[in-house]
Amino acid sequence: MRLNTINAIYQSALTLFDRYLSQIPENVFTELTNQEPWSQVRFSLHERRRMAQEKLSPELETLAGNLAVDGYHGWGELYNTIVGQVRIPFEENGEPKTLSAGQAFNKLHSADRNVRVEMFEKWEAAWAGQADLCADALNHLAGFRLRLYKHRGWDSIHREPLQINRMTQETLNVMWDVVEQNKDIFLSYLARKAKLLGVNQLSWHDVDAPIGEAGGTMSYDDGAEAIVAQFRVFSPKMADFAEHALENRWIEAEDRAGKRPGGFCTAFPISGETRIFMTYAGTNLSTLAHELGHAYHQDVMNDMPALAQEYAMNVAETASTLAETIVSDATIRQEKDKQAQIALLDDKLQNASAMFLNIHARFIFETSFYKEREQGMVSVERLNELMVAAQKKAYRDTLSEYHPHFWAAKLHFYSTDVPFYNFPYTFGFLFSSGIYQAALREGSDFEDRYIALLRDTGSMTVEELALKHLGVNLQQPEFWQQAIDMSVEDAKLFLQLTEDL
Ligand SMILES: [Zn+2]
Repeated sequence: MRLNTINAIYQSALTLFDRYLSQIPENVFTELTNQEPWSQVRFSLHERRRMAQEKLSPELETLAGNLAVDGYHGWGELYNTIVGQVRIPFEENGEPKTLSAGQAFNKLHSADRNVRVEMFEKWEAAWAGQADLCADALNHLAGFRLRLYKHRGWDSIHREPLQINRMTQETLNVMWDVVEQNKDIFLSYLARKAKLLGVNQLSWHDVDAPIGEAGGTMSYDDGAEAIVAQFRVFSPKMADFAEHALENRWIEAEDRAGKRPGGFCTAFPISGETRIFMTYAGTNLSTLAHELGHAYHQDVMNDMPALAQEYAMNVAETASTLAETIVSDATIRQEKDKQAQIALLDDKLQNASAMFLNIHARFIFETSFYKEREQGMVSVERLNELMVAAQKKAYRDTLSEYHPHFWAAKLHFYSTDVPFYNFPYTFGFLFSSGIYQAALREGSDFEDRYIALLRDTGSMTVEELALKHLGVNLQQPEFWQQAIDMSVEDAKLFLQLTEDL
């Protein structure tokens, strides 16, 4: 509560600050941002000033922001209320139960196909029951956004999300083009998975189904030691940092009842320390590595001004994904048991194909939905049609069954903080793959360049970041192809290992 109040004060101070920024004459502003200490936050100041200038007058933006609390954000909150009311009847060991959306979602990923089949049907039916309300929320949320864009004179629905992620439309197009050109191998992986699961074609609910047990468990201490050792191969400084965090008990990892699921890393700017929350259950080494990656990203930026530390969603996962990849790659390499190796690879490929297929479907859907919404309200039937069309396009019609009410079931479409909460995932995944490739090529020389890259994540566009630190042009396909090659290799290995199963 106290933090919310402080944050509200900070935000209104920033609005006022932006207003002053936008009123400084061009030549004075340029001169000012070339001088210390302003030059350290030059990018951020230019960005804030440009954003303020491209929006409506400060009075109108303030009014729009105020009305959004009970309008725009209100629709997002209504969606949360709807999700909270979803109840799904389900019989377990002969006992009838009523599951929440969260509990039912876990069942959708059950290793038992009969459970998945039954739950998928109930899942679709439950969302069909809420579809009218969800469609209202989605249509009004999108309508608010489109109306505001119109008043600002913005013509593209991708403009705001691209601006937030500091990237160009060309970069986004090239990234999706390269993904599109490489889909065959990931569809072959899914076809093989169908064979392993004993079905002709995968259903929507089979795509993320587990295909075996992935090795044994490891104690927390052994897991932590393994992570530090793998980090050290790649970057001694990163390994030292992880050791420091572990020794100083910055990680709350105990497996006990009453903890929320998932993990996160939070920073304390004044002490320069971070804390990690997660539940270590003996197998989720990758979560620990992931959160240590976030903590390291923060650590290398600690001495920078606050405005230079603000990075966007598409690069926020760079350090964490990279740390996770270092550990998961080493785990796969060291695994001697073939079945366990296959299960580990499948896990990795599930994530990669989600980036290239599932997230692509979300992007295609959202783009076509917004286009239709410009003409008026989009009905439930039409939303279902658009969703299935997007899924078929993304998966090249290779699945036996699709998820028409995915637009209702997926929280991300209702996020009012970030529009188009999809492509930044794919960007971040491939961007970190590209960095990992460079690190493998360059060995120990890469460490300092990597740190320099992380430090610049809050101070330039992604195109500038890639050019300066990796020497690549994100508006050309070469970098993206190299980045996706890593997952292509995983898919090839998976196909090879499962050849005669
Ligand atoms: Zn993360």
